[in-house]
Amino acid sequence: MNNATSPCSDDRIKTLLQGEECDEAFRSAAKHLDSCTTCQLRIAELAADECDWMGCQAGAAVGRS
Ligand SMILES: [Zn+2]
Repeated sequence: MNNATSPCSDDRIKTLLQGEECDEAFRSAAKHLDSCTTCQLRIAELAADECDWMGCQAGAAVGRS
């Protein structure tokens, strides 16, 4: 699943979820996400997980039990 040559990575997506908007890595990741359907779907999955530990009620509404 993880291809070292792929620009797509969970680390990059986590940067978007947890990083600072002024961070260069964040901007790079955001630019990639804008044109990558795979990462757009992936960030939705990871965002649901993030919501769990943040106590976000919206996380449950996405379809997780
Ligand atoms: Zn991607």
